Amino acid sequence: MLRIDSKDEVRSAIAEARRQGRAVALVPTMGALHEGHLSLVEAACARGGLVVVSIFVNPTQFLPGEDFEKYPRRIETDLELLGASGVEFVFTPSAEEMYGADAQVTVSPGPLAQRWEGAMRPGHFDGVATVVTKLLCIVRPDFAFFGEKDYQQLQIVRHMNRDLDLGVEVVGCPTVRDADGLALSSRNAYLSAEERQTALALPHALEAAALALVGGERDVHALEAVMLAVALGHPDLVLDYAAVVDAATLEPLSQVDRPARAIIAGRVGATHLIDNLALDPRAEAAKEPGL
Ligand code: AMP
Repeated sequence: MLRIDSKDEVRSAIAEARRQGRAVALVPTMGALHEGHLSLVEAACARGGLVVVSIFVNPTQFLPGEDFEKYPRRIETDLELLGASGVEFVFTPSAEEMYGADAQVTVSPGPLAQRWEGAMRPGHFDGVATVVTKLLCIVRPDFAFFGEKDYQQLQIVRHMNRDLDLGVEVVGCPTVRDADGLALSSRNAYLSAEERQTALALPHALEAAALALVGGERDVHALEAVMLAVALGHPDLVLDYAAVVDAATLEPLSQVDRPARAIIAGRVGATHLIDNLALDPRAEAAKEPGL
């Protein structure tokens, strides 16, 4: 496994693999890798071909006052984890290498990026869309792997891929959770033991909505009320939103009469957490909420 810091070097390393007729897969990450990231890497390796993992804490997707400076950086541990995984190249550019001194052009991801996380973190998805576009242009992969954990991000990337004809196959991978149901996240490292208990309100609220759906509830207000009731039972959780939305567009729904997604976000102490769960109106699928 080779660690590469420069865009030119990663391009030429990949060009060599392409000359050999190999497919290329990209797994973009911000590092501090956990089993969630590794599940993406595993899915990428299972496709065959050359797997590139990028590790880049992208400054442009953090808002002023967010945790860019204290975001966990554990490059040596990350490289050890990836060393055992079948990844060939780990792309670790600096911010200077990535953006140069005078970058001006950004990607504007449109209305889907204004809702939910986009409303809570204005500009966040512009940073995500721009860096993902740049990574796709540098690596030019056949496949790019993203987690459903960041569901809105995944849907924005799918849109961007279609709307800008990027020509990549975007592969979404299921959320990996700890035994207690909390979705794995690099930010979980910030949580104290008590805060972690509070954070469990997120998956518990999603699970409660999924169970209500299995019980026959299709009214979105009622399902959202179920989520709210769980969240309000944890006064230390500052809820940003808890909603049931169309699974493809993330637009609000009134009835779960098509594939939907329960989405939730909030702050526990200074830590911003998000989670989501598929709500499928077909009873059989809904019987397995996945938590
Ligand atoms: P990040 O390093 O947080 O930017 O995440 C990099 C990629 O890993 C994104 O596509 C995330 O959606 C994905 N990811 C993060 N946490 C998980 C998880 N618990 N399960 C599955 N994928 C995840």
